[in-house]
Amino acid sequence: MVEAVRRDVARNDDVLGRPRLSGPVDEALLAVPRHLFVPDELQLLAYENRALPIGLGQTISQPTIVALMTDLLELAPTDTVLEVGTGSGYQAAVLATVLPQGYVHTIEIVTDLALSARKRLVRLGYDNVKVHTGDGYRGRPEHAPFAGIMVTAAAERVPQALIDQLRPGGRLVMPLGPQGDTQWLTVLEKLPDGVLTRRVVLPVRFVPLTGEVEGR
Ligand code: SAH
Repeated sequence: MVEAVRRDVARNDDVLGRPRLSGPVDEALLAVPRHLFVPDELQLLAYENRALPIGLGQTISQPTIVALMTDLLELAPTDTVLEVGTGSGYQAAVLATVLPQGYVHTIEIVTDLALSARKRLVRLGYDNVKVHTGDGYRGRPEHAPFAGIMVTAAAERVPQALIDQLRPGGRLVMPLGPQGDTQWLTVLEKLPDGVLTRRVVLPVRFVPLTGEVEGR
């Protein structure tokens, strides 16, 4: 699986501006046991480089996308990050591995998914992750600011609360675009003076962000 991800990354070297993943992200992909994050009947497919269904209409993202989104945040080992869309908890585990002295807050709107991801992450010993149940649309202001924010579900635009909770110098990675269609993986950077820059990196396909965002 990791070989396939490395090939994808090399082929899309414009995404990261280099033909390989950073060392910590590459090591995290090797370290996190993806087969323990997918349903039992799909364990044989866990190390294929593809998205898989995790039940309740949701999916665990393709490993290449997990790797690129993680790398695009350009994190330091002590950073605190926010993920919106815990799903299986796999992406959170990858982030937690990249942040040995840091912390991951992750929010999941589907209660059953949040409960099983929390149980799984505790069982596997990821003690620098907290799974919150609820709508991630407003982020987690009590834990802000975040050095990185990752949204693993697609919306038309970036929720303002998430931009507000980004630390100056921090990055937010999220698929933007219409539901059920191709979206664009987008990196927002908040410069030290607070100015936002935006870079569109890759066409992707994610499940929709639900909850309060839909009322807009
Ligand atoms: N990162 C996950 C995959 C995410 S799939 C993994 O590694 O397995 C997208 C997830 O976002 C789904 O579980 C979906 O329920 C969740 N989601 C959708 N809208 C949300 C919202 N407003 N707040 C929190 N989670 C949300």
